[in-house]
Amino acid sequence: MSTAIQDHAAQALRTGTLPGLPDQLHIDGHWRPAVAGGRMEAIDPGTEKPFAECPAGTAEDVDIAVASSARAYQEVWRHAAPAQRATILRDAARLVRARVEHLAVAETLNCGKPLAESRDDVETVARLLDYYGGAADKLQGDTIPLGGNFVSYNQLEPVGVTAHIVPWNFPMFSMMRGVAPALAAGCTTVVKPAETSSITALLLAGILSEAGLPQGVCNVVTGTGAAVGEPLSLHPEVRHVTFTGSVDTGRRVMQNAARHIASVTLELGGKSPAIVLADCDLDHAVEDMLEAIYLNAGQVCSAGSRLVIERSVHDAFIEKFSARARALTIGHGLKNPAIGAINSRRQLDRITAAVDGARARGIRIAAGGGRTVDPDSGAGWFFQPTILDDVPADDPVVREEIFGPVLCVQIVDTVEEALRAANGTDYGLAACIYTKDIQKALGLARDIDAGQVTVNQYFAGGIYTPFGGNKLSGFGREKGLEALRNYCRIKNVTIRI
Ligand code: NAD
Repeated sequence: MSTAIQDHAAQALRTGTLPGLPDQLHIDGHWRPAVAGGRMEAIDPGTEKPFAECPAGTAEDVDIAVASSARAYQEVWRHAAPAQRATILRDAARLVRARVEHLAVAETLNCGKPLAESRDDVETVARLLDYYGGAADKLQGDTIPLGGNFVSYNQLEPVGVTAHIVPWNFPMFSMMRGVAPALAAGCTTVVKPAETSSITALLLAGILSEAGLPQGVCNVVTGTGAAVGEPLSLHPEVRHVTFTGSVDTGRRVMQNAARHIASVTLELGGKSPAIVLADCDLDHAVEDMLEAIYLNAGQVCSAGSRLVIERSVHDAFIEKFSARARALTIGHGLKNPAIGAINSRRQLDRITAAVDGARARGIRIAAGGGRTVDPDSGAGWFFQPTILDDVPADDPVVREEIFGPVLCVQIVDTVEEALRAANGTDYGLAACIYTKDIQKALGLARDIDAGQVTVNQYFAGGIYTPFGGNKLSGFGREKGLEALRNYCRIKNVTIRI
């Protein structure tokens, strides 16, 4: 970690805030208050105290933002040369990298994660801007050989105004995962960050403007799901909604978008299995699984939240893993511990209720099991890295997303049983297989019902590989070149000569 970032972090810890944080909506290239004048506090989950404020927007702000984006789409952005879009996105990437210290500290205050994870998220945001900037001038159509006196071609067009409803676990990364490909394709965007983590979305909107993005091409309206997300997903001028969050809200967003037949991408989380077979490199699997379940305190849609393990290696794995889990440091994200804060009291209560329920049903807790606080200040929303061992397949903690640092262990006796366990929930987002046996790896990869399967490294692939779920995990794919499809439609032109 550089000295500059540590200096920023130390100052923020001392003062409880950070200079240079925006506190207005970003609409039509300008900072402006919400029409109704509402405000909301941004709370640092590591201290439970406010570190900033932003507007509490309403449907009136959504209308202004969508009108601005519709105008920018019609008059400017869809006509911009793809190479010009590319230049702006790459310039934004440079600005993001130049401000890594400020953005990383802001993100930790915003959502609670350890500083090193925030710094990685900032780099990922820059990479997304570079990657989709690189793709902007390579979106080519094709020709159709009708023969005779006909010329026929398919051209890719941007879909128009797109809405991006963003969750709180990766505020900057989730925003840019949708916004960067949308901008590259020639769409304009209205972003609604999660109400508990809105500040860094405003910072990114400011950076895009500074990089030369024309007015209205990226608007950010902060506010609650009901006051801003709802009218945004219902807005008839929005042609695509990219949503990441819970199944219930995703269902509602889909119904809202259906009113005006807008397309949707839904990324709704999961209960993703990590299968540990007896022949694997067990020490590697232990280390990799620590990241799979405890990254961002388990508040990761694709977290490896279920360990499906062969009985013969179960005891050895749990002994090593629980020793490592108990030794993980917990504290305010700006001190860069292994485990930072849970984003909100509401989420902490959800996690606590899930683990208390498991305890009451007699499930063995091999490590952790309760909430805690920052060891220096005695404040903040924290949960211990937890292991629930030998959980029956029909238990709610196996079937339902907890979205916290809680690993559920399922013991199996055969590879066939491992596959049944892996596919035994209503979700289908990600899966990982730890094995040295290529036959078993390829067989399981073929048969697991998930949008992304990795072998021997849980979070392999990064921004370059398509990502999204099956079943209740949603549909549509983000990341990679695949994401551009969400923001392009095909127009066929056929001409008789
Ligand atoms: P949520 O789905 O309610 O919130 C996600 C986003 O949707 C936020 O920006 C929110 O303001 C917005 N929203 C809420 N109501 C809306 C509406 N009616 N119309 C449009 N937008 C609306 O999630 P939550 O309540 O913050 O968390 C609940 C659970 O969701 C978590 O416990 C976790 O299981 C899951 N979750 C998953 C992800 C993921 O990455 N897939 C991210 C966050 C939460």
